[in-house]
Amino acid sequence: MNELLAQHTAFFKELVGSERFSTGTSHRELHVRDISAHHGSLPAGVIFPVTTDEVAKILAFCYGNDIPMTPWGAGTSTEGNPVPVCGGLVIDLTLMNRVIAIRPADLQADVEPGVLRKELNRQAGQFGLFFPPDPGADATIGGMIANNASGVQTVKYGATRDNVLRLVAVLPHGEVIHTGCKAPKSSSGYDLTRLFIGSEGTLGIVTEITVKLSGIPALRMAATIQFPDLASASQAVGILIGSGLGPAALELLPPGLICLMNREKGLGLAEVPTLFCEFHGSSDPVIEETAALARELCEECGAVGFRHASDEAGRTALWRARHEAWETIHRAHPGLESLIVDAAVPISAYPEMVVFAQSAVDRAGVIGYVFGHAGDGNLHVVLVGDIRDESAWAKLEAVNHAIVEEAIRKDGTCTGEHGIGIGKRKFMPLEHGASYEWMRRIKTLFDPKGLMNPGKIF
Ligand SMILES: Cc1cc2nc3c(=O)[nH]c(=O)nc-3n(C[C@H](O)[C@H](O)[C@H](O)COP(=O)(O)OP(=O)(O)OC[C@H]3O[C@@H](n4cnc5c(N)ncnc54)[C@H](O)[C@@H]3O)c2cc1C
Repeated sequence: MNELLAQHTAFFKELVGSERFSTGTSHRELHVRDISAHHGSLPAGVIFPVTTDEVAKILAFCYGNDIPMTPWGAGTSTEGNPVPVCGGLVIDLTLMNRVIAIRPADLQADVEPGVLRKELNRQAGQFGLFFPPDPGADATIGGMIANNASGVQTVKYGATRDNVLRLVAVLPHGEVIHTGCKAPKSSSGYDLTRLFIGSEGTLGIVTEITVKLSGIPALRMAATIQFPDLASASQAVGILIGSGLGPAALELLPPGLICLMNREKGLGLAEVPTLFCEFHGSSDPVIEETAALARELCEECGAVGFRHASDEAGRTALWRARHEAWETIHRAHPGLESLIVDAAVPISAYPEMVVFAQSAVDRAGVIGYVFGHAGDGNLHVVLVGDIRDESAWAKLEAVNHAIVEEAIRKDGTCTGEHGIGIGKRKFMPLEHGASYEWMRRIKTLFDPKGLMNPGKIF
């Protein structure tokens, strides 16, 4: 549906005013692509609600009038998750951007879904607190919930799923429900909070969230650890995780990507397989002792270099380079698109998985950077190519397929953090077997007409 009827337009304008509802081409075109190469179908209109009540009225009207609905956060997804595939109405949540309350005594905050992660951390920081899940992008909390996003600190603090207590959600037909509670734990009934987390906007729209906050660590130390090959670097990952040293970040970077980062950011790192690592502690001696132990363990795995520093500038530069890896790769290959592999496996299978992925890239003769949130067994391969060249793009798809199938064979998953969206739907039957049918039944129970973010996950 690429056009709305006059009575639809009149209803939306009456509800929110003309300044928060648009059928203009520029607004519609801004809501048809995320950062992936997936193209959608131009939405007929974009609406910007500011209250739960408005969301409820919009959804009830759309449901009654068979208008497809797609929720939208910051649009930073990598699998087409917020891309409308049936046109209809895009519901942009970015104006619902109030941090309603920060409650330091409970280590919690109540927020609206359009609050950006960095803004929440800026406000929580005034109380010495932060919200740990950290996708590189400045995503909205609603988008992070819908994709169950995570990031470099997930190895210590968990994914979004582990940091949310309670939601207010509007179901596709407009009913408002509350899930969970503000107690730190609960055994009460089915966990609808976690059903919504990772549902990619296919079950309804989240309009209020209670998140858990953590204390900002007193001291942080970043380390770069160099290895002769990818296999020894990835073996050290399991050793560090099992050591009890509790790394707060543990990332694997390949020589090709370090080379691009050096060129763009002047990091001056040796261009060999490297682990970027971070430890948190309460005093200098504790942190130094942790570094010494980590160094010893890595050297036993063949590490050839170990540099660590607690200075904030060096640490920030390192993590900034890591967070901007995707942009750095794109800037190095202008005019090309990327396909991002996001497989995850049990930590013991990580070394084999890394070697498998690198050889799949080499065998196919394509451009591909193998890296990832190693501490979570999460492997990214950014495959780069010309999407207009069908046979070249088919080679990237084949590499993606081979890596995902291998990850599933190793009891892993096709997506550690980016979600299914459009791009990974094809792997769902293989990964979930009969459970996939039960997921479909849940979707049908919430959304019998299939109007809520259609074409995603299923
Ligand atoms: C440079 C870069 C690095 C990244 N690194 C990481 C990373 O390390 N880890 C990681 O996990 N991700 C990463 N991502 C992906 C992305 O940032 C996350 O998936 C993020 O959670 C998307 O949030 P968003 O606000 O952009 O949501 P959008 O992309 O706008 O939407 C995401 C999904 O949420 C739905 N949605 C949005 N708001 C709501 C709501 N209120 N209620 C219900 N559904 C809703 C949408 O329909 C869609 O399905 C990265 C992206 C970029 C560009």
